[in-house]
Amino acid sequence: MATHTATVPWALTPRPKTTQPNAVTRAKFTDTEPAGENWRDRAECAKPEHDTALWWPVGDSGPALLQIQEAKDVCNYRCPVMQQCAAYALRVGEPYGVWGGLSESDRAALLRRRARQRQQQARRAAA
Ligand code: SF4
Repeated sequence: MATHTATVPWALTPRPKTTQPNAVTRAKFTDTEPAGENWRDRAECAKPEHDTALWWPVGDSGPALLQIQEAKDVCNYRCPVMQQCAAYALRVGEPYGVWGGLSESDRAALLRRRARQRQQQARRAAA
C-alpha cells in the first residue's frame, strides 16, 4: 500500500502578505475569499484519493512531463479553486510544483512576460 508522504503544494508556502507590490489584481486572478472562507479548503489535490506527489514533479522533461500533464488535468478539470491557486502561486513567486494548472516553466514564462510588459509600459510612459 502506497503511503502519502508529500505535502500538498499550498502547505509548503506560508500565507503571504496581501499588500505585496506585485499583487495580481485582475478579477480573473484573485485569491481573495469571503470572510471565513479559504480556497485551500476546497483544493482538489488535498483530497485523500490523490497522491500529492503528483504536484511535485522532479524536473520538466522525460517522465516528469507526463506527471505534470496529469497534475494539470486535475487542476484544470476537477479543481474549483484553480484560479485562486494560480493567482496565489504567481503572486508569491512560487518556484516549485504545479499550481493552478501551471507548471514551474509556465509560471516563469508568465512572470517574464508580465515583467516585459511592465518595462514596455514604463518606457512608453517615459517617452
Ligand atoms: S488548482 Fe491544482 S494545485 Fe491548486 S489547489 Fe487545485 S488541484 Fe491543487
